[in-house]
Amino acid sequence: MFPIPQTPENVAVSNIKVYARTRPLLQQEKEQGATSIVTLIPSDKKVIVEDKAEKSFKFENVFGEKASQEELYQSAVAPLVRKVLDGQKATVLAYGQTGSGKTYTIGTDPCSTKDDEGILRRAMSALLNGKVSEENLPPGQEDAHISISFLEVYNEVIYDLLANSRVPLKTKVEFGGAISAVGLIEKEVTNVADGLHLIEKGCRLRSVASTALNRHSSRSHALIYLIAQNGNTRGCLILVDLAGAEGVGRAQTSGQHLTEGIHINQGLLTLGRVLSSLSNPSHTYVPYRESILTRLLKESLEGSRHTAMIACLNPANCNMHETINTLRYAEQAQNVRMKPQVLST
Ligand code: ADP
Repeated sequence: MFPIPQTPENVAVSNIKVYARTRPLLQQEKEQGATSIVTLIPSDKKVIVEDKAEKSFKFENVFGEKASQEELYQSAVAPLVRKVLDGQKATVLAYGQTGSGKTYTIGTDPCSTKDDEGILRRAMSALLNGKVSEENLPPGQEDAHISISFLEVYNEVIYDLLANSRVPLKTKVEFGGAISAVGLIEKEVTNVADGLHLIEKGCRLRSVASTALNRHSSRSHALIYLIAQNGNTRGCLILVDLAGAEGVGRAQTSGQHLTEGIHINQGLLTLGRVLSSLSNPSHTYVPYRESILTRLLKESLEGSRHTAMIACLNPANCNMHETINTLRYAEQAQNVRMKPQVLST
């Protein structure tokens, strides 16, 4: 038997880099007697969850409760920022149940201190420092700047978070079923403080809804677009703070959300199905069109060479099932292998 030659048509070309991060137990959780069931083995890049039987998951890298924001940024995001400065697209997805540290990791928490600041500030600063100065642009190319857009997907509707009020945006269908938001505001920023100020204002417009888990739990996805225009090249880093993942694992395996009436975010369910299709080597159909989130992210997921997912974990024993579900979802994302020219209707 001779090996089948790998031609450009049948080579699986790209994958999503998946990182796991566990936060410390919060004071309140300790007072309630919670214990941590998550152990990391950094040398093996493994997460172990202590159940009756031990479950272990391996990722691109793992970050424990003492890992700094800078460490995570340097490992997972700095390489993507360099691609963006070269004019490419990159995406960072923060996934996990409510209260697991997604907002902290992305860095849209207005209470964070400078050392605590997440990906947003660090990426913005790197893009501003790395942009080509206009004097160094090739002749005939005059424009070099960094700009921001900020939107929310809530109940399958897009809202522009840089607008003065929460007005739904219309969408435009792009080639292959992807969509873009019509009239999405894009604002130039010249320093980090201005950028953070815009995002902070946008966060006030963002919908939050209560759940039994956390009164500030969000049911919406927040997408921050950091755009780097360098002459004729235009790169973009999309930072995605996904809605709380509670219940998604159960719904995926049993369809229980329908009978139990649990609200499960359509975007997360579809994203899970998209990842599941993309991780099946013989897939022919990818259900991008079934949610606004996946239609917005279609291009990122398809060309997923520059996509990172950070699986955020709440280590408390009472969250074991959600933690395992998050790790399974993340494992599936890690198995994504894209073939060129996938049929995606
Ligand atoms: P989510 O966005 O997933 O709902 P948050 O980012 O709001 O969760 O995190 C929940 C709480 O945990 C917040 O009080 C946050 O400051 C804290 N937290 C999250 N991650 C960490 C971390 N790595 N180190 C210290 N505190 C953290």
